[in-house]
Amino acid sequence: MINDGSVPRLFGTNGVRGVVNSPDMDPRFALRLGLSIGSLMKGTVLVGTDARTSNEMLKSACASGIMASGCNVVDCGTVPTPTLQYAVKTRGVAGGVMITASHNPPEFNGIKCIDPDGTEMSRANEESIERRFHTEDFALASWANIGTMVADTTVIDGYIEGIVSLVDVDAIRRADLRIALDCGNGAGSMASPRLLERLGVRYVTLNANPDGAFPGHNSEPVPENSKDLIDLVRSGGFDFGVVQDGDADRAIFVDDTGTYQYGDRSLALGAYFACRENPGGLVVTTVGSSRCVEDAVAANGGRIMYTKVGSPVVARAMIENDSVFGGEENGGLIFPEFQFCRDAGMAVAKMIEIVAKHGRMSTLLAGIPSYSQYKAKTRCPEEKKRHVMEQLAADAKGGRVDTTDGVKVFFDDGWVLVRPSGTEPLFRVFTEAKDPAKAKRMAEEYIDKVKALVNGS
Ligand code: MG
Repeated sequence: MINDGSVPRLFGTNGVRGVVNSPDMDPRFALRLGLSIGSLMKGTVLVGTDARTSNEMLKSACASGIMASGCNVVDCGTVPTPTLQYAVKTRGVAGGVMITASHNPPEFNGIKCIDPDGTEMSRANEESIERRFHTEDFALASWANIGTMVADTTVIDGYIEGIVSLVDVDAIRRADLRIALDCGNGAGSMASPRLLERLGVRYVTLNANPDGAFPGHNSEPVPENSKDLIDLVRSGGFDFGVVQDGDADRAIFVDDTGTYQYGDRSLALGAYFACRENPGGLVVTTVGSSRCVEDAVAANGGRIMYTKVGSPVVARAMIENDSVFGGEENGGLIFPEFQFCRDAGMAVAKMIEIVAKHGRMSTLLAGIPSYSQYKAKTRCPEEKKRHVMEQLAADAKGGRVDTTDGVKVFFDDGWVLVRPSGTEPLFRVFTEAKDPAKAKRMAEEYIDKVKALVNGS
């Protein structure tokens, strides 16, 4: 069932999101979406939530719709999104539904669907759900075939054991590491402390109680929300700190000196060791990722592939191209030996293993080149966007150009990416260079080029 464009879209890059009890995220919406989801999945559906105040309400409504379509529901409770994904994959069920708004403010919530292989739902399946939602094409079961709902609180056990089986626990225990862990009052609270316990590291937690009011800090792991963690690491004696977002699929690291490390740095570090352990391996990331990832891959003879922005796109490209590692620049790291989704639990375990085997995080990161980035935007009418992009690509003739998502033009020590906004009449211009002044200058140069093309010169 293909959406021909006549059906309004519900799902964004990472599920449906909305402000709780607005028309697009209230119990009626969740019930109707649950009916649509169950009508597609036709089997046992695992349901989990992050730590938000509206979770029980939305989960109940959504599960009600899923059961009405004849599917059995397994309520996995509050779990990280990757924990639910791993359970869907390993238990051979029809799919999963995660009630989460990830890193959004507390008044938001969302509903995200998982395909039977544990990956974020394909766009084709989302379109099928959207069509059923809008046309009310629900497969209502007869009274004798209504689904059941049972609770299962064991999925975190399987997730932790799955991670532990893929890292060198002996090396980790010998290293006697000490970690600062900030769960941000999110779903990571349920799994990450237990994981560290199981790995035999010493640790101190911050905000490790699930609380949908997010009393510690908002759930986006940006620098201003990581101050307490940085202070804790700087107090001394830690090998690194880590902060997870609200549903614990993303992890951001603070190195042993207490320096906040942006997601592209940990992505580069993971890529470096993945390519070292898998000679010639392919790393997949989005066109927006820093050049430092490509440098880390090249340093070990690996290959890089760029995709459109969005973790489901990265995950699918990894599956199709037999990739050894991948992820996004926002702390979403994907380890294919475990599963094809962003996973903050696996990211923490792998980073612990890397530090245990190879030394201090700050030293390892110092070996990876640094770049400065600059962001700007400029207006462009919708109807001129295609022309502008074609001209920019043609203009760079002879140089390296990537048109996967917008136009990305590479230079000796950086690049410029001009991407059309999907929702507004404007282009976003991102640049990167070794010298911050050059990054700014390149952005200004491309803003001028876009303006000239828009104005017809
Ligand atoms: Mg998230």
